Amino acid sequence: MNNVFESRVNEEEKMRGDIFAGISHELKTPINVINSALQVIKDKRAMGEDEDKYLDMIKRNCYRLNRIIYNLIDISRYETGEAGLKKENCEIIKHIKEWVKDISVFARERNVVVHFISSVEHLEVSVDLDKIGRIIANLMANAVKFSKDGGGSVTLSVDAADNNLIIAVKDDGIGISEKNLDFIFQRFARVDNSSVKYEGSGLGLWLVKNLVNMHHGSITAESREGVGSKFTVYIPVTLDRYISRQAKAEYKPNPDIIRNEFMY
Ligand code: ADP
Repeated sequence: MNNVFESRVNEEEKMRGDIFAGISHELKTPINVINSALQVIKDKRAMGEDEDKYLDMIKRNCYRLNRIIYNLIDISRYETGEAGLKKENCEIIKHIKEWVKDISVFARERNVVVHFISSVEHLEVSVDLDKIGRIIANLMANAVKFSKDGGGSVTLSVDAADNNLIIAVKDDGIGISEKNLDFIFQRFARVDNSSVKYEGSGLGLWLVKNLVNMHHGSITAESREGVGSKFTVYIPVTLDRYISRQAKAEYKPNPDIIRNEFMY
């Protein structure tokens, strides 16, 4: 009994150590970029050279730090078991549409066209809208990030079957090898592909999986190298008897969530 307990404690300590090591490494890069950009501005100011490029670099990396902090907050919530979803009964299709509309503005800036297809017009379900938005924003940001050079297209489709809300994000990007597909949902999973130009944390999909699990759902990934990837999220359709349907007409996707995902 004691041994089981001991090995669990050791396991948790190791996990915490891994998280700190991973996060510390993550924090170093944007801070270094900000520092160097500031140094360049300082050096060049005397010469009157264009500062915009370096100011933009600083801004992007501040967003990146922000994203890491958002992730850290989420991780610490899972760890202490206080992740509490703010669920509400709502008509989800119109909210998904709004998230996709706002996200497509960022995709367009990167020459990626976004399509939205839904086989259902209305669906009442109890979910945490911000968390569903984070799931969509993360999957779509990855789909855009790993699109082929020079553009591509991303399709978000919504279906309802077997009492599940099904959200799929499909891209025609670089794809993921069969070997790597097995571990992309693990913490700090960074896949060796041609997109080394993007510094990622490898936390995104792990967090997405956790957010899906919190809704008692599941997520699958299919991919073919050079052809594209498809991530499918299944969320059970339930309604909460103890909360009345919220008047969520005024709900708007949180722009920070989207911006954080797209500042890479
Ligand atoms: P990151 O912050 O590094 O993007 P994620 O957990 O979101 O972390 O993704 C882990 C890895 O999975 C990525 O580094 C990438 O190699 C791969 N990946 C995720 N989504 C896609 C996609 N749509 N197409 C190709 N590769 C992807």
